[in-house]
Amino acid sequence: MKRSLDTFDFAQGRFARDDKFVHICNVMKIKTSSYLETQEFGKKFAENLKGGEVVLLIGDLGAGKTTFVQGVGKFFKIKRNITSPTFVLMKIYEVKGNYLKKISPLAKKLGRDDNGGIKKLIHVDTYRGLEINDLENIGALEFFGRDDCVCFVEWGAGLEKFLKSKKIKTIILQIKNLSENEREINIK
Ligand code: ADP
Ligand code: MG
Repeated sequence: MKRSLDTFDFAQGRFARDDKFVHICNVMKIKTSSYLETQEFGKKFAENLKGGEVVLLIGDLGAGKTTFVQGVGKFFKIKRNITSPTFVLMKIYEVKGNYLKKISPLAKKLGRDDNGGIKKLIHVDTYRGLEINDLENIGALEFFGRDDCVCFVEWGAGLEKFLKSKKIKTIILQIKNLSENEREINIK
């Protein structure tokens, strides 16, 4: 049975009455069946960001890391096309205007009744094996943990220790390829 991701309940950590979802030990797991569903999930995910988070995206080439960030961009009403920053290493998207105009009941419950303080979406790709030094050189480091930024790092698993040592809110999001159009997304 297919369900709309609109029924995803972050407070409960599961879809309303959805058997696709399991919630074990703070790991959220969902399955998507198309790139649009992954984008839709990105949108829902973004609704819960407060600013200052760094999301490390793990998954093979073609898993859907960039697709997920495109969904995040939709939530922030970013008009620019979000594409993989593999060659430019980092892309900075300005978040303009009032992205929380239609504030959801959940966001309200989380105390997000302002216009939101997030001003930039930072998208980094460390596929070529960027080290902390490199991240500093390309200017990415200064955005990590800043309240007015949310950062997404593809292939960023290696940064977990560093970010945690800096007490930066770090979210690990892993995407597994199940079949041509199915993906399993784990968040911890
Ligand atoms: P990555 O950034 O992980 O290398 P991309 O997001 O660039 O991956 O590419 C994912 C590809 O897989 C896209 O062509 C997308 O259309 C396709 N795709 C098929 N099903 C899904 C799904 N359920 N979720 C995400 N992408 C999917
Ligand atoms: Mg990518």
